[in-house]
Amino acid sequence: MQKDIANWFSDQLLSWYQLHGRKTLPWQINKSPYKTWLSEVMLQQTQVATVIPYFEQFIQRFPDVKRLALAPLDEVLHLWTGLGYYARARNLHKAAQLIATEHDGQFPLEFEQVLALPGIGRSTAGAILSLASGQHYPILDGNCKRVLSRFAAIAGWPGNKAVEQQLWQLAEQITPGDGRVTAFNQAMMDLGATLCSRSKPRCVDCPLKLHCRAALAGEQTAYPGKKPAKTMPEKHSFWLMLQYHDQVLLQQRPASGLWGGLYGFVEFSSEQLRADYLQLNHLAVTRSQIQPAFRHTFSHFHLWIMPMLVQIDTKPGSVQEQTGAQWFTIAQLPQVGLSAPAKILLQQLQALQPPK
Ligand code: SF4
Repeated sequence: MQKDIANWFSDQLLSWYQLHGRKTLPWQINKSPYKTWLSEVMLQQTQVATVIPYFEQFIQRFPDVKRLALAPLDEVLHLWTGLGYYARARNLHKAAQLIATEHDGQFPLEFEQVLALPGIGRSTAGAILSLASGQHYPILDGNCKRVLSRFAAIAGWPGNKAVEQQLWQLAEQITPGDGRVTAFNQAMMDLGATLCSRSKPRCVDCPLKLHCRAALAGEQTAYPGKKPAKTMPEKHSFWLMLQYHDQVLLQQRPASGLWGGLYGFVEFSSEQLRADYLQLNHLAVTRSQIQPAFRHTFSHFHLWIMPMLVQIDTKPGSVQEQTGAQWFTIAQLPQVGLSAPAKILLQQLQALQPPK
């Protein structure tokens, strides 16, 4: 990009930011690298309005890195329940423990050290250091990718390495290096989140409209290019909602993999295995009822969840072949991380309980 256009871009954006930018979000008050890190991780894949209550709860419970590092992972996952993409919470916890041991509990301020932490890529490292300590690093989150690919009409899906490289080059060119980087990076995120939205960009109000190639051509929604379509496989999981009076059996999932470390219902890969399990455990079933199936979509496949509610009258001493299974009181949501579908089913189960 020509230097004069790059300068024009940053001047325009910063003037707009002074008037319309977001400056009072909870993580912008009494800013610190820890708060910025937490907010940046929460904001990956999630909108500001959703993040705010989670951020506030987190900061209240874990006001600094050391407190986060000392917390049990279960508690971290519990506070994360509903925010999705749980690998973010596990990485956050792992990174806090690394910071506690290797950096004496102080969030590092060297780019390479930040980048070495679990769950932090180039853009997040740049965002933390530019927003919290004014260091000159460009960012390229989803919002910035959309703004830049539209402004310069860069075709192709940004997940493609070559396209991403072009966007990084552009980000480097337009990011001002004269002490304005903090406001500029925040402005890029704000513009992408407010005006330059995915489906209905408000170009008439945009400070970049005079040189935005996509807007000038009336082709805003052609950018950024879409991910090449692929059909997602469908899988099935047979869940057992085992209820003994006012209690329900939940099981912790293995630490890695799908919903790693979270609690959910005992699950089986087939209906037959679920039936075998009931028989093998000699459970005195008083009532069983198939619940409506529903689909949960992950980034690379659809999961059909096929729940069955089974009520028993005698509590088995131990439940065979199921490790990490525990009974929880239905009326109180357990203080552990729950997968989103498990939480929904538990809430439905709560609603079915007779009033005390
Ligand atoms: S002019 Fe429109 S498409 Fe271009 S950056 Fe602004 S809002 Fe986005």
